[in-house]
Amino acid sequence: MTTAYVGLGSNLADPSVQLQEAVEALVRLPSSRIQTVSSIYKSRAIGPGAQPDYLNAVVALETLLAPLPLLDALQEIERAQGRIRIERWAARTMDLDILLYGQQWIDTPRLQVPHPAMAKRNFVLYPLAQIAGPQLVLPNGRLLGTLLEKCARGDLVQTQGQLHHNTHSD
Ligand code: ATP
Ligand code: CA
Ligand code: CA
Repeated sequence: MTTAYVGLGSNLADPSVQLQEAVEALVRLPSSRIQTVSSIYKSRAIGPGAQPDYLNAVVALETLLAPLPLLDALQEIERAQGRIRIERWAARTMDLDILLYGQQWIDTPRLQVPHPAMAKRNFVLYPLAQIAGPQLVLPNGRLLGTLLEKCARGDLVQTQGQLHHNTHSD
């Protein structure tokens, strides 16, 4: 079993409902179990043009799926939630990124882990630290807390919203 951290983001079609739907889809992933789910965080969109605010969360997933099959499964969930890929960073119903996959360092055209932009993103680092703690060691040997200190909270708000994950029944 490997612990993978998955980042969830939505800024279309009732984002809190989209996040809950994605968590339920993650619960159904084969050979995987959700360990922890962060609170819901809210922030302003950084993508092209004017976009609605984002809701983000991070899930700790214990999984036997290898990184690429996990990415396949996450992209299938995005499709099931009606994501249409127009351009990178465009508004979307659901975005699922693999932030970390155990201590693995992956650099292929289709998948880079740790997620290349995570160190700069408050909406990734704060929910990740909430569930993993600042002592989490990254594949480069640095601590999550060190990244967090260099990343301003900015307009990021930790909301009261909680995502529910019922235990997988089989
Ligand atoms: P960003 O990657 O900067 O957060 P984005 O999430 O909007 O931008 P997408 O359009 O969702 O980008 O994804 C573009 C491609 O990124 C995907 O098709 C996938 O192959 C690739 N990718 C590379 N590394 C990862 C990763 N760690 N998690 C998810 N997708 C990844
Ligand atoms: Ca993303
Ligand atoms: Ca993505």
